[in-house]
Amino acid sequence: MITPQGVGRWDVGIEGEQIAVVAAAGTAPTDTARVIDATALIVSPGGVEPHAHLAHAIMSHPEEPLATLGPEDDTQGMACGGTTTHIDFAFVRPGSDIQPVLEQRVARWKGNSYVDYAFHITLAGALPLRVFEQIPEAIQQGFPSFKVFTTNILPPHPRRAGNRIDFGRIHLAMEKVAAHGGIMVVHGEDEDLVQFNYERFREEGRMDGSNLHLVHSKLSELLAFRRTIALARAAGAGVYFVHTSAREGVQSIVEARALGLPIYGETLHQYACFNAEYYKTPRGFCSHTYPSLKFPEDQAALWDGLVTDGLSTLATDEYPTSLALKLRGRTIEDVTGGNIGAEARIGIAFTEGVVKRGMSLPRFADITATNAARILGLYPQKGVIAPGSDADFVLIDPRVKRTLAREDFHVSDYSPWEGWPVSGWPVMTLLRGKVIAERGKLLGSLADGRLLTRKIDPAVLRRPVC
Ligand SMILES: [Zn+2]
Repeated sequence: MITPQGVGRWDVGIEGEQIAVVAAAGTAPTDTARVIDATALIVSPGGVEPHAHLAHAIMSHPEEPLATLGPEDDTQGMACGGTTTHIDFAFVRPGSDIQPVLEQRVARWKGNSYVDYAFHITLAGALPLRVFEQIPEAIQQGFPSFKVFTTNILPPHPRRAGNRIDFGRIHLAMEKVAAHGGIMVVHGEDEDLVQFNYERFREEGRMDGSNLHLVHSKLSELLAFRRTIALARAAGAGVYFVHTSAREGVQSIVEARALGLPIYGETLHQYACFNAEYYKTPRGFCSHTYPSLKFPEDQAALWDGLVTDGLSTLATDEYPTSLALKLRGRTIEDVTGGNIGAEARIGIAFTEGVVKRGMSLPRFADITATNAARILGLYPQKGVIAPGSDADFVLIDPRVKRTLAREDFHVSDYSPWEGWPVSGWPVMTLLRGKVIAERGKLLGSLADGRLLTRKIDPAVLRRPVC
């Protein structure tokens, strides 16, 4: 069992929905309703997925009103894969305000999620200044993280709402979050470079999607991360960089943290496990999202950041679609971005991190649960096995050795992880004391998931704490 007191053989007692006691093995009372024998298993805090886009409009094919799968589908995979909490997004665009958008998303999730959930607030486009006045109230209500895109990601299209928000507005949002205990969540790519690359590649006839890593380039990540960090430093704001994909991104984060700045980095298991060569294979775009896969040296830097320090969380950027939709499009402009991988996240982190790269078990719990909970304000309710915390657990069987197959997954009609060999896999998941999945069988209900409000520990926003 992975606890703050260390890794060891512990008994854990659950009363109602919370952890009542963590005690030396063999000392907890056994006259209880149920005893789960976890001998030979690894017991880790229930996974916290900090980055999911469910029931989300798909932007790759703007001529059609397509959406990703909703929480009622995707959280089946989370439950079976050991994730007990996910954070999705409420998009605020010009013409809307924070409150109604939040209410819409909360209503969409209510009674439709197998695991607990929360929402980041996305600030997109040329928002009027009044929206920024709404930030303190949203933080007060338990929604303290604000997502911004420094790029539109794709070339302009008349039917596509741009995601980018200018650096002036980002600075204003940073000032607001810094003053009121919030954090910025940043998709960092340089708009000028990305858009120019699209233009240039189009003119040069290099439209094949296998060029995506040269459009969404390493340099683009470097420029955007540096610029964002400089701005955050000026505003005194904390930043959580989503889906760091390049060595340059990791280095920027490491340098900022060395200065004591509250800068945190996330990466995705797809970025760590695949590189752009994979785009040339028949199912290569199954592992594409924005920014793109990069080079082997970037994978090495991401793993180094995950195993030692520099990166804090391993997320999915979940964006579930069917295989046919995912493989639609072959060019840099029409491939379908977005990952499916929340179900595989914990098992892949265990296999690739702990088994293959010697990641310590505490570090494994940190990158899959604890750090996301700390940085984004769910700790200590979530992300830790300690008295008073929610009784959320994933039990991993390290003896499982198999090659993943379609049948291992519960969401959509494919997984990018089919054919991937694993050593260790989640075999039981508990959400607030209830077993919601066991050996691939879903036992929970759509009524189990609950809305979580969040509050970030001020220490997280003063200096890098994890
Ligand atoms: Zn995302």
